[in-house]
Amino acid sequence: MENKQYVYLFTEGNAKMKNLLGGKGANLAEMTGLGIPIPQGFTVTTEACNKYYNDGRVLAQEVKEEIRKAMANIEEVTGKTFGGQTNPLLVSVRSGARASMPGMMDTILNLGLNDETVEVLARETGNERFAYDSYRRFIQMFADVVMEIEKKNFEHIMDHMKEAKGVHLDTELDANDLKELVRKFKEFYSRAKGQEFPQDPEEQLIESVTAVFRSWDNPRANVYRRLNDIPYSWGTAVNVQAMVFGNKGETSGTGVAFSRNPSTGEDKIFAEYLMNAQGEDVVAGIRTPFPIEELNKQMPEVYQQFVSIVDTLEKHYRDMQDMEFTIEEGKLYFLQTRNGKRTAQAALKIAVDLVEEGLNTKEEALLKVDPKQLDTLLHPAFDEAAMQNAQVIAQGLPASPGAATGKIAFTAAEAKERVEKGEKVILVRLETSPEDIEGMIAAEGILTVRGGMTSHAAVVARGMGTCCVAGCGSIVVNEANRTVKAGDKLYTDQDYISLDGSTGNVYGAQIATVDPEISGDFGTFMSWADEVRVLKVRTNSDTPHDTEQAVRFGAEGIGLTRTEHMFFGEDRIPAMREMIVSRTVEARKKALDKILPMQKADFKGIYEALEGRPATIRFLDPPLHEFLPTHESDIVALAKDMEMEVQELKDIITSLHEFNPMMGHRGCRLAVTYPEIAEMQTRAIIEAALEVRKEKGLNIVPELMIPLVGEVKEMKYIKDIVVRTADSIIKQSGEDMKYSVGTMIEIPRAAITADEIAREAEFFSFGTNDLTQMTFGFSRDDAGNFLKDYYEKKIYEFDPFQKVDQTGVGRLVEIAVELGRKTRPDIKLGVCGEHGGDPSSVEFFHKTGLDYVSCSPFRVPLARLAAAQAQIKFPREKK
Ligand code: ADP
Ligand code: MG
Ligand code: MG
Repeated sequence: MENKQYVYLFTEGNAKMKNLLGGKGANLAEMTGLGIPIPQGFTVTTEACNKYYNDGRVLAQEVKEEIRKAMANIEEVTGKTFGGQTNPLLVSVRSGARASMPGMMDTILNLGLNDETVEVLARETGNERFAYDSYRRFIQMFADVVMEIEKKNFEHIMDHMKEAKGVHLDTELDANDLKELVRKFKEFYSRAKGQEFPQDPEEQLIESVTAVFRSWDNPRANVYRRLNDIPYSWGTAVNVQAMVFGNKGETSGTGVAFSRNPSTGEDKIFAEYLMNAQGEDVVAGIRTPFPIEELNKQMPEVYQQFVSIVDTLEKHYRDMQDMEFTIEEGKLYFLQTRNGKRTAQAALKIAVDLVEEGLNTKEEALLKVDPKQLDTLLHPAFDEAAMQNAQVIAQGLPASPGAATGKIAFTAAEAKERVEKGEKVILVRLETSPEDIEGMIAAEGILTVRGGMTSHAAVVARGMGTCCVAGCGSIVVNEANRTVKAGDKLYTDQDYISLDGSTGNVYGAQIATVDPEISGDFGTFMSWADEVRVLKVRTNSDTPHDTEQAVRFGAEGIGLTRTEHMFFGEDRIPAMREMIVSRTVEARKKALDKILPMQKADFKGIYEALEGRPATIRFLDPPLHEFLPTHESDIVALAKDMEMEVQELKDIITSLHEFNPMMGHRGCRLAVTYPEIAEMQTRAIIEAALEVRKEKGLNIVPELMIPLVGEVKEMKYIKDIVVRTADSIIKQSGEDMKYSVGTMIEIPRAAITADEIAREAEFFSFGTNDLTQMTFGFSRDDAGNFLKDYYEKKIYEFDPFQKVDQTGVGRLVEIAVELGRKTRPDIKLGVCGEHGGDPSSVEFFHKTGLDYVSCSPFRVPLARLAAAQAQIKFPREKK
């Protein structure tokens, strides 16, 4: 058996090896190759992580052996000795998966320190404060990441000490304080764990590497992965890297940098740093960092070198970079680079700029924007008029753009709970941490008291497209009393506040919002997407208003109009109820006659909003009892209207009860029982089209869609009614109008007999919501309850109602496409389920060869971009 290599030196890897080395490791190797100053180290591969899990959560002997060898190599390169009595080598242990997962996995710095090496370090650097500062940090990180002793325990010990000394900043503690702190930390550690803090550097290292692998499976990581479509099977890599120190005094420091502004996209380096600091100090929001321009005053040469490396990296990766750097006694090191996360606005500006600068082709630029991100640009902004009267009560940093309004929630758990109950909340925190992730997802917006533009709250909010104002130091949050004080006004959890993530303004009231539009960079970018894609994008819409919105967002027609949605209105439901409870055909026809003009008016409005674009209209679909009255007063009123006994009506209602309505009398089954419903709907669709053609000169070709077909004879029975009705109306009008009749494929039997069904159906529209439900055999209304156990046990990694299950449901789609085309080569194929607005599903439908996807109006731009990306990755012939 050939031996696998589980450990790679930075000198052995490159950026193409992301799958094996993770993003961080691959880029550290690439930067090493570019000659950028990188502290040297090695990467333990993602395969070693998978092996760790396959072996039952143990780190294999051979992996440990390779780690030891690589350590020896780093000792040689640095001239230092791991655990040495002179010149001790200290390292960091850093996680790094294929996709970046900010804040999800934890890093350990200064590993290799123990009671002896700390003394050596102090002596050799002549800097006792630095040595003990490094040691206390190491103990805290090791305890947190490896031994799961919460960080805050150590923070409390430190806070006590600062309080006792009457100082505010960590940097104000001196060497003796830190020595004392180390003693207290170790004491706490051994009390918490019942064992001493490990002194053997090798043990520290192996324990830490193992902990990083273990953290791949922690609950936070699992939530993040599901949210971001990252498969569990990828695993994480671990990077072990020689330390450089930003906490060695006033000529040392550490910082984070973006090659362009991640919030606006402006082509100007955006960076923050702190002197005499280490690791996460900048992002933790403990001290407020300086803008990088300050560095030009403090250390002009370092600044020049910094700017030049940033420039090199951006040109090399042909994208905006997010970097970490450290200055150790005036010498600059880079510690990380990756394609930077950015707001949707910034993403579009950067994409358009990169093409204009000649750094990217349009195709490359199109791949740089995450379709899901576009969503944030389509959501309401504050209404200008409402803003006139709005009072700014505080101002923080504009950390993630957008407008949000809601009631104050004080903890992540509370935010989540209140949102589940239907409230809109703004999460207000001193600062956020990775544990807050679920509350941050639930909240409309996030407001923090501490932290800069690169704080946890800011980074995560930008990633999610949630509005965030960070570092709003002028408000006072009292978590115990559950109040927020701004100026001299007190706000409680029942008060509304509003955030403007683009200005950092906080308002003390609820503010109305307005609809967005696509223009500027957004418009340019979307026009490129349209040039590229072959998959068409339609919308699901039941009203002229939504249709207009969707057309503004680029919809090329309607893929699904649900006619039943038109009947829930107060003025309409009585006629609908009358129709349902009618016991003779005559009575039913009388009720349908009342419905016809309303339905026709709706269709005319929709046709007009479409301005000639195609529209697929679906016949009545849901179980009828959904429309029936349940309140006594409504029942009495309906009985009176219909001149019938109340008890008689109640008996009818009872007789319509079904045990399993989703699999009951619905869809085309209704039209089989009551052909007059199909007749009326055909009439409404055809007459509306004829009238709009005449009045507006629009060339409309109605598409009539029969739902829930499972058997070709069902389809034929209803199609015959449609054709008979439509042809006679058209003939009478003297016009020459075409129309088509098709079906939804949403029952597995329809998919596997699609060749037969295609004899009657001129188009198929995959109703992937029902198809998923019927294929899995669980209902989308109930699955939520148990799917969470399936996620936890990794039986399913994602919700099949959001992202199409390609193996099962997708297979049925493929079969139906193949069989349908065999019978009718030019059959038109589309999707009208929720999946039409999910990027990975859109990619699948593109590959399957469908003509279009259809999704809700607000997802249309997302689907247009996803379709373009699919074409770039998997080119298909243009028709
Ligand atoms: P994350 O993925 O959360 O950013 P990192 O592994 O990048 O975690 O590290 C956390 C912090 O520690 C970063 O600020 C990074 O620059 C710093 N750091 C990591 N390794 C070293 C090292 N070898 N020397 C100095 N600082 C380091
Ligand atoms: Mg981290
Ligand atoms: Mg990092």
